[in-house]
Amino acid sequence: MPRIGSLLTKRKVLADARSPIKVAVAVEQQPLSRLLRLRYGRKGLPRVGRSAKRLAMQGRCAWCNQESDELKEVTIVTPNRLGLQPQPRTFQVLPQHEPDLRRYISRLERFGLLFALLMLTISIAMVLAAALGKFAFIPWLVALAGALVIVFPFTTPAAVSRFGFKTSITVVRFAGGVLLVFGAFLKTM
Ligand SMILES: [Zn+2]
Repeated sequence: MPRIGSLLTKRKVLADARSPIKVAVAVEQQPLSRLLRLRYGRKGLPRVGRSAKRLAMQGRCAWCNQESDELKEVTIVTPNRLGLQPQPRTFQVLPQHEPDLRRYISRLERFGLLFALLMLTISIAMVLAAALGKFAFIPWLVALAGALVIVFPFTTPAAVSRFGFKTSITVVRFAGGVLLVFGAFLKTM
């Protein structure tokens, strides 16, 4: 009975193969390994499968931007810059940097919105302080913004895709440090 069943399945695949549209749909929907097995049978698969996988995995590590062919593909539910609308996103990452990437993304999910709201509050407070002539508050607010950026170095997706997470985070933290020093400098005036 199982043999007849598998023969029927095979015949169905062959019948489908006559229609180019159906083949295209089938190619899109099936994993590469299954397509290779259908085309070449079990024997030819391992070699072809491995080289195809190696080809697909070449690129840069999402975390450190290093070029490598040892990359691992991981899908992580990732929110936007505000820590909202989490959606699964696929990253190519060196296995040793996967924990860093996961930690950063989970921090973004937990604190992204809080960070954005605090920055907004600080900006409004600065405008108010200036408008009301309470200039003594401004150095503190500038320094507070700098400290927040150092603690929550959330960067833009454009920077991340260009430089990788690690460099983007370093640059953002450096900018936070500059703000902090600038705040301290204002305080001395
Ligand atoms: Zn890396």
